[in-house]
Amino acid sequence: MKVALLSESPADEAALRVLVEAVLGAPPHFTRPDLRARGWPNVAQVLPAVIRHLHFGTDTDALVVVVDSDDSVVHGAAHDRPGYFHPQCRMCQLRAVFRQTTKKLPPARGRERVLRGVGVAVPAIEAWYLCGRDENVSEAAWVAGQVAGRQPYSRAELKWRVYGTDRPSLPHEIRCALQEVERHRRDPRRLENDFPGFGALARDLRSWLPAAGPPENPG
Ligand SMILES: [Zn+2]
Repeated sequence: MKVALLSESPADEAALRVLVEAVLGAPPHFTRPDLRARGWPNVAQVLPAVIRHLHFGTDTDALVVVVDSDDSVVHGAAHDRPGYFHPQCRMCQLRAVFRQTTKKLPPARGRERVLRGVGVAVPAIEAWYLCGRDENVSEAAWVAGQVAGRQPYSRAELKWRVYGTDRPSLPHEIRCALQEVERHRRDPRRLENDFPGFGALARDLRSWLPAAGPPENPG
């Protein structure tokens, strides 16, 4: 399976390769990292062209897109109602771009469409890195802070906790990111549970796999 990644930085991409592999259970073939966006809203702006390019110009099977939520509305169960779409939610926005872009495309290179994988890190990917290490960091904690009008931690604080600075060099950022995601490589379930924005990505990834056979009858 050939998988392309679209994220906000080379460090994010290095960590996402590990996380995607952890969920799929086997290493996919990652395409050359020639997709790069410069944060939000650039990711959403380039996404239609990226999907069309992958569909017609390559034999890539699937595209994984991950962005930080920053201060935007966090995707919740209420957004998953059929036909619902929250215009300030990045998960809803990215899914809508996938839906609208792919439905107009004729089949190409023997496939119907490029498969979708969308994740949103709340409020930033450093929170995913701290999952399982810092008990206070979770998507629920961030959402509770939004409701109360008081952030439990800032994005700069998350960077300090991961990198020891809020302005890491790229090699240092990649080194720290890879060190932290080793926990999730062994078992991504804690990250799926504490960060539904990652859990949604994991469900997208598993939907690509051939359906499992009927469950074994115990006894
Ligand atoms: Zn949403």
